[in-house]
Amino acid sequence: MNTRIVTIDGPAGAGKTTVSKLLAKKLGCVYVDTGALYRGVAFEILHRKIDWENDSALENFLEDLDINFVMEKDSLLLVSSGKDITNKIRTPEISMLASSSSAKPQVRKALLGIQQKIAETKDAVFEGRDMGTIVFPDAAHKFFLFADLNIRAKRRFNEMPGDTKDINQVQKQMEIRDLNDSKRKSAPLKPAVDAIEIDASFLSVEQVVDKMLKVIEKA
Ligand code: C5P
Repeated sequence: MNTRIVTIDGPAGAGKTTVSKLLAKKLGCVYVDTGALYRGVAFEILHRKIDWENDSALENFLEDLDINFVMEKDSLLLVSSGKDITNKIRTPEISMLASSSSAKPQVRKALLGIQQKIAETKDAVFEGRDMGTIVFPDAAHKFFLFADLNIRAKRRFNEMPGDTKDINQVQKQMEIRDLNDSKRKSAPLKPAVDAIEIDASFLSVEQVVDKMLKVIEKA
């Protein structure tokens, strides 16, 4: 049993990132956003113009891929082929491409070891879609965070910079991503059988984290 690992899975915009960051801070451990790795893959696919739906092109690309997290102060930077791409992976285009390309088993296989290796040396809160089901099936504490689609879309819309944004578009893309992520064959988005499910629709970040801390402290 891995007692140092906490997993938080759930759909887009449920508040996993803010919750995971605060929980990790309270526990005094690292926070790992595994979605960043899938976004990093999408970023490279886009920039290197990879025909990722073609299996041999995808496999060649994955063989060359050199992506990982690098610890800086108390957060992790996403570095690909020596370049810091942390701040380049949050566009709607990359969100959609990360969701479609992450359904490929080859992509998931390429990223699995990176995630598990971090846990060998660090206590961490891991956030993603398949943390409790596939990547860390033995984690001691597993949570599944969800919220109503329109509440999630509103939160994501409010966080977005700029004034050309459109809430209907944000909601539509979120819905497509959730559907892609939960219907795929390889590591679909779903709660682990032993995960504690939390509906965050009407809870603040602090309330969600308090609930999690209570569960962790009771164990
Ligand atoms: O968490 P985030 O929204 O940044 O993730 C982007 C996409 O990466 C998700 O829509 C999902 O398709 C994929 N992902 C995944 N498995 C994870 C984390 C993210 O498939 N553990």
